[in-house]
Amino acid sequence: MSCEWTNQFNPFNSIKALAWRERLEAFWGGAHFAPVTLNLELTNRCQQDCPWCFTAPFRKACPVDISFGHVNSEAVDWWVKWGVKGVVLCGGGEPQLHKDFPQILTTLVHSPLKLGVVTGCSWSMSRTLLPDWIGVSIDAGQESTWKNLGKHGKLETLLNSYKRFREGNSNLPLTYKFLAWVPPGDPKLGNIMDIPDAAKLAKEHGFNCIHIRPAYGTGEIRVWDELIAQAREEETETFKVYAPTHKVSLASGSSHRRFSRCLATPLLLNVCADSGLYFCQDHRGEWPYLLANLTTCGGWQRFITEVWGSTAHLERLLGVEPSSCSRCTFNAYNEVFERLPDMTPEFV
Ligand code: SF4
Ligand code: SF4
Repeated sequence: MSCEWTNQFNPFNSIKALAWRERLEAFWGGAHFAPVTLNLELTNRCQQDCPWCFTAPFRKACPVDISFGHVNSEAVDWWVKWGVKGVVLCGGGEPQLHKDFPQILTTLVHSPLKLGVVTGCSWSMSRTLLPDWIGVSIDAGQESTWKNLGKHGKLETLLNSYKRFREGNSNLPLTYKFLAWVPPGDPKLGNIMDIPDAAKLAKEHGFNCIHIRPAYGTGEIRVWDELIAQAREEETETFKVYAPTHKVSLASGSSHRRFSRCLATPLLLNVCADSGLYFCQDHRGEWPYLLANLTTCGGWQRFITEVWGSTAHLERLLGVEPSSCSRCTFNAYNEVFERLPDMTPEFV
């Protein structure tokens, strides 16, 4: 079995959740603690149509952009006062398609919050208006695969745009994101055979790393070790290959399930394009996982003071039956927090 990484202290290692142990324990103890991060989905519109897109039903049923009033400078002030540490602009859809993206980005860049952006497009903004990290969803290493995945435009054009971008921004962490996918039942199709080429392209075009992981719902991936070993030949001090498999099984494309309670979701709040605030990112757009809607609940102040951390919120989490969730992005976090009490309380 290949190693997930060659440097274990990295952002893709779920053990990072332990850094927020005290905050989560305090939350469960009844103290009011903010989520560490907001996943902010500005729009449900997307120019791609990836075969693994699990938000497609939500996006297609509700092709909207979030109202600017829910993410303006007043909202950002509330998040900062609340104790949120970072925001990730992600999808759902393509964040750069929101008509107010420039203004939202400007406000966030000038706030004390850490900011990440996940995009499938070239960077459309000024090179002086930058988040702390950009991840580019590419998922291919050859033009033909890019086309077969139904991606918009040309892979070469996108990669060259980031090569030029890198020339002007030598320090910005830039991740080439690759979801590995084979249609169930046919291990030769899909995009997985592109993994070594994608690693080469990532390095040549100035990305700091490639983040490769199996997509939820993929068929069995049998050639993972060999492909990751080839990709890892590209590694240097400044270019890394991350290939985590602790969230999704290579044998079935489903989440590993070694926990029985849903404990970790208070680390993250999902702010979705329909103005819904969902406690689980795998259930965006599903009303049983909706804590409130910003349009109808009275806005951020009411949500923060009356809904988040309320008895009703805790009861909702305790009522989750994890075996009924078809996938769980927080599986490793849930496992860590469930099993912590089993560990020896002594230092050694
Ligand atoms: S880029 Fe993301 S949101 Fe868009 S279709 Fe692909 S997986 Fe779905
Ligand atoms: S998928 Fe289910 S168990 Fe996992 S975090 Fe979401 S609600 Fe909790």
